[in-house]
Amino acid sequence: MRCRVCGRPLTNHQSIQRGMGSECARHSPPEHLANHPSVKVQKWVESAYSSARSAYLLYKKRQYFESLYLAHLAIEKMLKTLMIIETGQFDYGHNLNIFISKISLTQNMPEWMRDVCARMNQFQTAGRYPDEKLDLLRTIEPQFVQTEIKNMEKVLMWLSEQTKQ
Ligand SMILES: [Zn+2]
Repeated sequence: MRCRVCGRPLTNHQSIQRGMGSECARHSPPEHLANHPSVKVQKWVESAYSSARSAYLLYKKRQYFESLYLAHLAIEKMLKTLMIIETGQFDYGHNLNIFISKISLTQNMPEWMRDVCARMNQFQTAGRYPDEKLDLLRTIEPQFVQTEIKNMEKVLMWLSEQTKQ
């Protein structure tokens, strides 16, 4: 049996039951959101996780800066998803912490996750404005990006969990 996302052969029991490997599972929408009654929500969630998958793949290809840019985008889309669930619409903009402050479902977000989002904001700004990008590029370590990608996965999972209430 093969992973239905990437096509790689599945070996362990849990992956076979799920129909995909653990790596792909971390970058695929959870069931309750993939099958959300609102088609709009389904589309946003799919798009958020697609960006998360790209962030991970770019990290693997050592495109560290672009990886973090996509990680920001994944969280941004997930926050907008929560906003759509709450209000039926979303605000434009890219500042993750402003979204967090406006969404009721994120009011109990742990401090360390807010810090992750604040750092991600820097990378999205630098990704848009190359003057700032050059300074940041000099400071990026692969280990840092690896940690931030894991943080992105945790933030996405936490945000998904909030929509179960
Ligand atoms: Zn896979």
